[in-house]
Amino acid sequence: MISGAELLELVKNDLREAIPRPKYEVLIRPLRLQEIGENRIVLLAETESLKHWLQEQYFQQIKETFQKYLTKPVELEIDIVQGSLFQEGEQVDLLELVEASAPVPSPPVKRTVLFNPRFTFENFVVGESNQFAYSACLAVSQRPGFAYNPLFIYSGVGLGKTHLMHSVGQKILEKHQDLNVLYVTTEKFTNDFITKVRNNQLPDFHKKYRSCNCLLIDDIQFLAGKTETQAEFFHTFNYLYENGRQIIISSDRAPRSLRSLDDRLVSRFAGGLITDIQEPSFETRLAILQKKAALEGMKVTDDVLVLIAENITSNIRDLEGALIKLVAYSNHLADSGPITLDMANKVLRDVLPDPQRPIVTNLRSIINVVCDYFKVDRNLIMSSNRSKNVALARQIIMYLAREYTSLSLSQIGLEVGNRDHATVLYSHRKICDDITEDPFLELTISNLTKLIR
Ligand code: ADP
Ligand code: MG
Repeated sequence: MISGAELLELVKNDLREAIPRPKYEVLIRPLRLQEIGENRIVLLAETESLKHWLQEQYFQQIKETFQKYLTKPVELEIDIVQGSLFQEGEQVDLLELVEASAPVPSPPVKRTVLFNPRFTFENFVVGESNQFAYSACLAVSQRPGFAYNPLFIYSGVGLGKTHLMHSVGQKILEKHQDLNVLYVTTEKFTNDFITKVRNNQLPDFHKKYRSCNCLLIDDIQFLAGKTETQAEFFHTFNYLYENGRQIIISSDRAPRSLRSLDDRLVSRFAGGLITDIQEPSFETRLAILQKKAALEGMKVTDDVLVLIAENITSNIRDLEGALIKLVAYSNHLADSGPITLDMANKVLRDVLPDPQRPIVTNLRSIINVVCDYFKVDRNLIMSSNRSKNVALARQIIMYLAREYTSLSLSQIGLEVGNRDHATVLYSHRKICDDITEDPFLELTISNLTKLIR
């Protein structure tokens, strides 16, 4: 027989191998055991946001790892440490809020899922990559059942589908507290169906899913290969659709690419509005980080956010993960000053490109990168133009060429508008000197260095 603490250690060891190290350090390592019963385990996270992240990302994996050692199914719960130094205000219990403010006579609507209070339209940063999906969701939340039905949203992982669905749900409930808005993951829908069939309670299942005014079903790609659940979903869909109820579906790919899904379903999906979310631009990534930092009251300077936004490009969840890791780290320092670039580079070592990696580059790509960065025409660099921006870009090109290519001073001079070697030497020295005094220049050089790798 092993103790609860030993069991938790075993589970943590497994998870350390299975998930990215920064996430392990921030999310898993600090977990504590609150309770271990016959069929129930309660873990403690330090803050509400850590709890939320655990539930979003690793809940199933943690649960399965416990089950592996216990060799039986268990219920897993994650709570927050009471009275923790890191506790962030009261948790909002939307269920209570909604029910407390609903008109008294109407029978209380039973809500099985609470929406994430952070996943609102107000907290969603709109950029070119998600503008269309955002507008469609907003329209649906204003006129559920009428604007676009069904609404189908697809994108790669971590780009905001779940966030938008929760936003719609919460917006509808703000205005229409009596409506029954149901958010489910496809996994939950499937499990519900299997359980109810097994227990001969199919009518309960129908009652639950057919009585809602708005069904938000997340990650529909997981219906692939589940023929019976698909058939059931098809009937649910038709019932809701024919009765003018709103349906929003999310998926990791477009309907036509959902190969193993029944054609009848795919054509139903295609009958409404289909919208996708692309990877966010640098500006959107930065804006998301700024918003997130402001929302959480984090003391982070823009250069740190730029560092993250530049290096984590394809997944907003990872973007936020890096920020949370930094904040978790600085929270644990005795001196809780602002997070510095230096600290960020250290803490985020695993997620940022390795600074030791040798740089393989040539002068042409340096010129291209610097011209793009400064929005300066290549011909101006080659010319004798001495305007401030052009002169600085030219000096930086010569500096980077000296640092990161094996060309001689004369060769560099020749390639940068036929200048002599002394000019190249002077430029290189000037940048070296200025960097030490001008943090903006330092940041510029560090950004450019990453871009030319
Ligand atoms: P998906 O469901 O597409 O995998 P999520 O909706 O779970 O992605 O988003 C992952 C994380 O990124 C969430 O914490 C979410 O709040 C955040 N996020 C995604 N898009 C945005 C955005 N445009 N503005 C602010 N936060 C965003
Ligand atoms: Mg999701």
